[in-house]
Amino acid sequence: MPKSPLRYAIRPKHLEAHVFEVTCTIADPDENGQRFQLPAWIPGSYLIRDFARHIVSVGAKAGRRSLPIAKLDKHTWITAPAQGPVTVTIEVYACDPSVRGAYLDSSRGFFNGPCVFLRPLGKDDRPCEVEILPPRGARGRAWRVATTLRRKEAPAYGFGVYRAADYDEVLDHPVELGTFALGEFALHGVPHAIAISGRHDADMDRLCKDLRRLCETHIALFDAPAPFSRYLFLVNAVGEGYGGLEHRTSTALLCSRDELPQPGMRGVTESYRTFLGLASHEYFHAWNVKRIKPAAFTPYDLERENYTTLLWAFEGITSYYDDLLLVRSGLISEQDYLETLGRSITSLLRTPGRMRQSVSDASWDAWVKYYRQDENTPNAQVSYYLKGSLVALALDLRIRGRTQGRKSLDDVMRALWARYGQSGAGVPEDAVERTAEEVAGVRLRGFFDRALRSTHDLQLAQPLREMGLEMQLRAPASWSDRGGKVLSERPARPTIAVGARITDDTMGVRITHVLNGGAAQTAGLAAGDIIVALDDLKVNAKNFEQRMNRKRAGEQATLHFFRRDELHRTQLDIVHAPVDTCALTPVASDRTGARRRAHWLGKGNA
Ligand code: ZN
Repeated sequence: MPKSPLRYAIRPKHLEAHVFEVTCTIADPDENGQRFQLPAWIPGSYLIRDFARHIVSVGAKAGRRSLPIAKLDKHTWITAPAQGPVTVTIEVYACDPSVRGAYLDSSRGFFNGPCVFLRPLGKDDRPCEVEILPPRGARGRAWRVATTLRRKEAPAYGFGVYRAADYDEVLDHPVELGTFALGEFALHGVPHAIAISGRHDADMDRLCKDLRRLCETHIALFDAPAPFSRYLFLVNAVGEGYGGLEHRTSTALLCSRDELPQPGMRGVTESYRTFLGLASHEYFHAWNVKRIKPAAFTPYDLERENYTTLLWAFEGITSYYDDLLLVRSGLISEQDYLETLGRSITSLLRTPGRMRQSVSDASWDAWVKYYRQDENTPNAQVSYYLKGSLVALALDLRIRGRTQGRKSLDDVMRALWARYGQSGAGVPEDAVERTAEEVAGVRLRGFFDRALRSTHDLQLAQPLREMGLEMQLRAPASWSDRGGKVLSERPARPTIAVGARITDDTMGVRITHVLNGGAAQTAGLAAGDIIVALDDLKVNAKNFEQRMNRKRAGEQATLHFFRRDELHRTQLDIVHAPVDTCALTPVASDRTGARRRAHWLGKGNA
């Protein structure tokens, strides 16, 4: 006899109070009392978030009769024993505008399964039905639904009943409710869509055209067909915001409306490049992490931390390909791509924490470090996104160099796809390294030990030179110089380094981070201090830089600053900014240049 399905229903109950009402009904509950649990975290975002803290009421019924329900721990409940169908109803406060949470107001709703759908323990292999109900009143007639949950009894983009194979799948299809703009395109017969909520005037035709080109490049990398039968980009456009979360057939993106292409816009602006890079990143995850998945996540244990050293591969390799596939698809130029690479190298060189934490440790400690950043983060941590992407670059160039261009990281990804992605078997902790060695046919143990498990700097200059690229290092031309560009002329004066990260404050200049070994640390400045005067004159963020850069190395500056409500005075040593700014430039055109454009930045392999 087929097992009876789990039935969920979710309704925007009180828009102004940001409350969803969610029910879970099970036809054959555990005879000793049925336990229900809400996940503590959401896959793709490695932090214990305790979603159950947003549950504001819980009740249970057996048929029409109310049934006692008791709480066992922070996110588990148990009903009294009952015969026949049991329904648990929760009310969930939803006011998290990020891509990881649930949100509801009078203009839109959004939810991720882990925030709203209870798991009936022991029954989570059942097929699931999810009834998505409209808000009451006029709004309910104007709103639509965007999700890749499969429709059972619902019109396209409409309210009604959706279905999923099991609870794991229910969790992996975020849902947008509201009056979003919609664009659609097909790729190799697979329908793709983009739904954009928020106020914006994006050119939907242009977006569809560019995304189609980009997605095609991803599918070609892994060899068609795509591993999904539909795909959806859910976008929330806001004034300022950035974020993305990957799912098996969709992604939720948060972006600034200025990053979306306007009608009549020509070329790809820097801000649109940011949006395309984000979309590219999450789409790549449909292969790398959603299907080629660490054994540590197979299956996910959503009650507690799931440790892996492999986030350098799942986030770093994905970060490497997100921009690389923009240039391969022809959406951005080689020059644009080299600029983003130069900026990444600059950003890593400006992170003292790269000398403290290996990228493998950064991955393992994501739960308590990367996702819980504080004022000491630049000194103590390295990002597995940033360093991971440059490890991927170094690995790719090394394989290409050692095999005379016959093999590349593309082949490693295709091998991982064939071995683990298509079967769903989890990737053991050493398997990315083993697969790379097998595919390339060369020993890479020394490379991986240094790149992943040590804090020595990556060796990038030589492999880049073999690709016909000169890695130039210089001091920054200003405090806003993020690298990536070669200076047309030397700055009139050397830039002065404070050794701290700062931000504007109504009272002056606020220090957000003090870097180890820098002038600010020597002067006794701390994160949170607000500098109010430089040499006895009031400062703001703008004139602080100008006035500091007029000083000469060896001099001192007198700073007055508030620490909490106490005024202090200190002397800051004036020192030149270090050589930590990188730009990549093609050496005079030659055969390597042609090979670089044709293979690495072109189609892939030689
Ligand atoms: Zn990612």
